[in-house]
Amino acid sequence: MVPSMSAPAVTRFAPSPSGYLHLGHAYAALFAQGASAGGRFLLRIEDIDTTRCRPEFDAALQEDLAWLGVMWTGPVLRQSERSEAYAAAVRTLSRLGVLYPCFCTRAEIRAEIARSPSAPHGPEGALYPGTCRTLTGTERAARVAAGEQHALRLDVAAALEAVRPHGPLVWRDRAAGPVACTPEMLGDVVLARKGLGVSYHLAVTVDDAFQGVTLVTRGVDLFHATHVHRLLQAALGLPVPEYHHHRLITGPDGNRLATRDGAAALRTLRADGWTSVDIRARIGWPEAG
Ligand SMILES: [Zn+2]
Repeated sequence: MVPSMSAPAVTRFAPSPSGYLHLGHAYAALFAQGASAGGRFLLRIEDIDTTRCRPEFDAALQEDLAWLGVMWTGPVLRQSERSEAYAAAVRTLSRLGVLYPCFCTRAEIRAEIARSPSAPHGPEGALYPGTCRTLTGTERAARVAAGEQHALRLDVAAALEAVRPHGPLVWRDRAAGPVACTPEMLGDVVLARKGLGVSYHLAVTVDDAFQGVTLVTRGVDLFHATHVHRLLQAALGLPVPEYHHHRLITGPDGNRLATRDGAAALRTLRADGWTSVDIRARIGWPEAG
């Protein structure tokens, strides 16, 4: 499908400044820009993970995009400046009664999964077994008051129940068509962690609505996450954008590129003499209809 044949849309490219942009980012950025089809194309820096994000990568990615010929409109939105909006979303979900504190460590979750042969599995592996969902209100309050470390998980069943009066949840993908929303396949995902901010799921859902994004483009590796985002949109009363999950760029070994694959970094290739035209040819952009 050639996105530029579609109606104008508000799209965004939303990289994390945790490394240099590589060929996969180049494809995602050009795809998002093309999909705006004369509408608006925005840049959002997803820098909430302060343990991995660095200002020099933030500056570098903007320079790399400009070199590639990717031009965004309006100011750059940074997730590090959005904590109040995320906190408000957490309060809304809390009031709905669809969040619960989870005190499990990663090791405890692994052990619990190993103990129960019927532990539920999703497309991305074993799901959180729901250990803390059954704690009583008194127990939860006592452990939180005692200062025990905890995350806030989305009670997916409770959230689905809460939004049921609004009718069946569906989202539309430009490649896959209408998709019935089944967020239970990812289990009770973590939405926030005390001291570490909110999860990808919550931040992108809140920000896409805030920026008025009407078409979310991203790699197919995030296809399943959209089920959770659709549920959050319903619970938070946010508009539902259209989606287009696209292919991933692979390296010579056939695996998708990751930030650690320095050889595919745009600035490495540029230093080796590649032009932006060479980059586009390597990733197959624009795509033949
Ligand atoms: Zn737990």
